[in-house]
Amino acid sequence: MTDALEQLLLADYDRPVTDTIAAGFRSARPVTLRINTLKLSADEGKSALLKAGFYFDEVPWYDAALILHDVREEDLWHTPLFEEGKIYLQSLSSMLPPLYLAPREGESVLDMTAAPGGKTTELAALSAGKALITACERDKHRYERLTFNLKRQGAGRVTALCKDALTLDDFFSFDKILLDAPCSGSGTVTEGKSVRIDADYVEKCALLQEKLLKKALKLLKKGGEMIYSTCSVLKRENEEVVRRALSGTATHIEPVETLQGLPLLPCIDGAICVRPTELYEGFFLVKLKKE
Ligand code: SAM
Repeated sequence: MTDALEQLLLADYDRPVTDTIAAGFRSARPVTLRINTLKLSADEGKSALLKAGFYFDEVPWYDAALILHDVREEDLWHTPLFEEGKIYLQSLSSMLPPLYLAPREGESVLDMTAAPGGKTTELAALSAGKALITACERDKHRYERLTFNLKRQGAGRVTALCKDALTLDDFFSFDKILLDAPCSGSGTVTEGKSVRIDADYVEKCALLQEKLLKKALKLLKKGGEMIYSTCSVLKRENEEVVRRALSGTATHIEPVETLQGLPLLPCIDGAICVRPTELYEGFFLVKLKKE
């Protein structure tokens, strides 16, 4: 961890908590994956993995999530399960926002900043392919990755748009929105990976996040719910963005329950900030409801 990141963390957390976050950054996390229930059941996926010689632990809060033993991601890349889109390599933390959004059959759902599509395909799987999902991504190369993943994962009913979400027509409205915002990535720091997070960069991220969140609130139907999430543990990108975007609006935080085994950092009431550990990346999420 750089000095600049340590100073940012110390502005938000006390020394003992900052030290635990730093220890989380140093931990080597195992490979985790999600069985793609658009293609096979969780039980079928587990049997197929065991048959292929992959051993795993289950995750108490999600039947389709697995933690693999003694495996590198590369070991899975050329397996039929991976190539046929029956599994998706995904961090445990990043599986949380779709679970909390809980898309249902027939609901219109916008995944506002969607590539490479881990959460879009999870949203499709959670609704058994029956939610009406629109996935938006601004970057052309990342958009191509998104459409590749949608196809491979069998999420055929998702409408993908290569577009800046800030320019979406306000004429559109959605029952549910996921804004998994671009962020500094301060929750995903790992040893050996270069880190370029400083106060200026965080501020730049936060200003874009606030714009995107205000736009999301415009596109959300009255009575609709959305999730705002980042893979940052810095309050400027999380609760501060939420506080500013909600100010003067009729939208409130809809408190969410924590899940069994989630390591948590202190954060704004009703939201969840996952602490980086040997299993989890740092991650923030909050559910918002528009009156
Ligand atoms: N939800 C994705 C997943 O789970 O696979 C990860 C999303 S990533 C955190 C944020 C994405 O937002 C990036 O792909 C970035 O290119 C995209 N993005 C940034 N600004 C955007 C904008 N104004 N409109 C649409 N997409 C945007």
